Amino acid sequence: MGTTIHGVLERNARKFPEKDAFITASNRLTYGDMNRTCNRLARYLQDEGVRHGDRIAVMSRNNEHFFFAFFACMKIGAIPMPINIRLTPKELGAIFQNASAAGILYEDELAETVTSLKENLNYYFSIQDVVGASAHFSEGNLHVPIDSRDVCEILFTSGTTGMPKGVVFNHERILAIAAAVSVNFSLTHRDSMLTLMPLSHSAPLNTFFMSGFYCGATHVISDFTPKGFLNWIQQEKTTFSFAAPVAYLLAAKDPDLASYDLSSMRVFAYGGGPLALASYHHVKKAFQNENFYQVYGLTEAGPNGILLYPEEHLDKAGSIGKNPTVNMEIRVVRPDGTDTDPNEYGEILLTGDSLMLEYDNNLEETNAAIKDGWLYTGDIAYRDEDGYFYIVDRKKDVIISGGVNIYPREVEEVLAKHDAVLESCVVGVPHEDWGETVKAVVVLKGDASEEELRAFAAEHLAEFKCPRIYSFVDELPRNASGKILKQQVKLVHS
Ligand code: AMP
Repeated sequence: MGTTIHGVLERNARKFPEKDAFITASNRLTYGDMNRTCNRLARYLQDEGVRHGDRIAVMSRNNEHFFFAFFACMKIGAIPMPINIRLTPKELGAIFQNASAAGILYEDELAETVTSLKENLNYYFSIQDVVGASAHFSEGNLHVPIDSRDVCEILFTSGTTGMPKGVVFNHERILAIAAAVSVNFSLTHRDSMLTLMPLSHSAPLNTFFMSGFYCGATHVISDFTPKGFLNWIQQEKTTFSFAAPVAYLLAAKDPDLASYDLSSMRVFAYGGGPLALASYHHVKKAFQNENFYQVYGLTEAGPNGILLYPEEHLDKAGSIGKNPTVNMEIRVVRPDGTDTDPNEYGEILLTGDSLMLEYDNNLEETNAAIKDGWLYTGDIAYRDEDGYFYIVDRKKDVIISGGVNIYPREVEEVLAKHDAVLESCVVGVPHEDWGETVKAVVVLKGDASEEELRAFAAEHLAEFKCPRIYSFVDELPRNASGKILKQQVKLVHS
């Protein structure tokens, strides 16, 4: 049968029955409390007709309600589908239809967003209501036969490009991610993990929550605010956090930063994008801690892939690291599938125990993404002579102008070096003669004219890579995990 995720919850409840395990803004629950509540909830759902294999959307902010719904579904073999709470009813409708959702478990506070979806669902429950209604059900463990190879979760890729796709995992794969990441970070039950990024995203949920959970660690679960981040660390003496780079940068700006004691922190992990060298120095100094680890991966691979260790930030700035995590392998290949030479651009492939099983209901996309057991990531990269990997760009973001490939990230990095530039997003916009031409959408933090930026770009970049068009904005659109919505910028600025 193998170990299941809810099996780990039951194990933790036996091993650490009295330990604070889920600390939220309004609650402190032990592993025993969490397990008992989820057992009651699972029986209630069963009683209402929810069955093995039913797909249940879970919509909650970051708090205990998320986990009540998540584990209760698993205990009866229903498949939780954590959903980004910032989506509109229309976007939700499309996802639910594609994924054949049988029902939804939502937090009361989100009732308004989900009300229009009710008529197409068999099950429609507020999590708080279910907690109340399940009070008289038995709280002992259930004995529903569930195999570690059964599908246990469907997540939706953040959708920075195209429609979100359902990414399917079973218990075995998720626990492989958890085991690998816990080894890589030497996690134990003594760690206290701070989870402030939305739990509907794969990195906070599969990679970081699960790795601590696997070891019986404590979890502080909340929505992100810069002050909240600092308060939680000080109050709960957390040891480990994972966040988007922008979250660390925002917290580092807090005017009261110096009055916080952050000395309990052992690891500041981040991913989804790089932390520029200057920003790395900034957060390191601000938090008085060197232990920043960059994680590269994608939902389809857990995400679990490769790590950049603290000291490597200096020696190999801009790299995603050299050594994949313990159960993963990495290659960079040419379009014909052969391995690239050092310094040659190609596509990153990943393989290992953490890959998704498939894209939900989409054989064509699955077969395009996984070939011979290797996941084609769509990330363009090269390897230097020392074996370190560097991401150049997303395959889909490459600008093709006059038949020549231009990697927007390279241009963005040059612009970021200008003192007056906070950040930029470089996109290809349609051009009659060239197919596409390069446009830079820039957020300034100081004074600089367009002419100045043009001259600066020309100094650092080959002529064909220099932006032909500039546009200045106050901020760039981002998704829930902090990633710039490049396709949106492209749409608005084309
Ligand atoms: P998601 O599936 O939402 O986690 O997005 C995964 C994508 O984010 C990857 O394919 C990369 O393009 C990007 N990404 C993730 N981690 C990093 C990183 N450390 N550095 C640069 N890009 C990253």
